[in-house]
Amino acid sequence: MKFARFLHNATTSYGIVDQRIYPITGDFFGEFQISQEGYEPDKVRLLAPCQPSKIILVGLNYIDHVKESQSAKAVPEEPVLFMKPSTSVIGPEEVISYPDGVKRLDFEAELAVVIKDRCKNLTPSSVSDHILGFTCLNDVTARDLQKKDVQWTRAKSFDSFCPLGPVIVEKIDLDNTRIESYVNGKPRQSSNTNQMIFSVERIVSLVSQVMTLLPGDVISTGTPAGVGPMKPGDTVEVSIENIGTLKNYVKKV
Ligand code: MG
Repeated sequence: MKFARFLHNATTSYGIVDQRIYPITGDFFGEFQISQEGYEPDKVRLLAPCQPSKIILVGLNYIDHVKESQSAKAVPEEPVLFMKPSTSVIGPEEVISYPDGVKRLDFEAELAVVIKDRCKNLTPSSVSDHILGFTCLNDVTARDLQKKDVQWTRAKSFDSFCPLGPVIVEKIDLDNTRIESYVNGKPRQSSNTNQMIFSVERIVSLVSQVMTLLPGDVISTGTPAGVGPMKPGDTVEVSIENIGTLKNYVKKV
């Protein structure tokens, strides 16, 4: 099943995506009913597919990215965790705002996990019971600030630095899924989840040892090789096999 959050005639709903988009009533993360009447996809505007209370991300989780990264000397023993605030989330087709004073703004295509229910202290083997599905995330990063600051908070947390979407897909092949990014239609990253160092199960388990996860929380699993800069006026896309393409526009606003 594919899930979306969308705007139709000034009403925001969660829905099931098929040939049409069927709104649901009830609790998206619990008991819900699917409406009989669906909307044509071009009659709705897709929003970020969930509203996370927090977004947790990992640094350096693809072998090919570790090899290209100057700062990494070796494969890390444990994934490095960091966060973005809920206020950094934007949806498909929205604008990534290029902050004043930033000298280099990078895209990072990532596979993101959406949590289904309140959970804590998960074992890797129990993680799949608590995943609602998967979506695309662009870990937008002010690279110059990341290098300058000890903590990454400022570099990762500006408003609009967490594009998310377009939909949440319940199941994908975590061992073999293509992940790509494009700037102005030109390919920039092209890799596969088979390059991940720490599995999705291990990452979610590790995060859940630290903090209670809530329905709709997002855990992002790192970016592959080929990260690079964006400029005002650019269009950036993150594309993941069997999920879709998350497109955003970079503007100085
Ligand atoms: Mg990243």
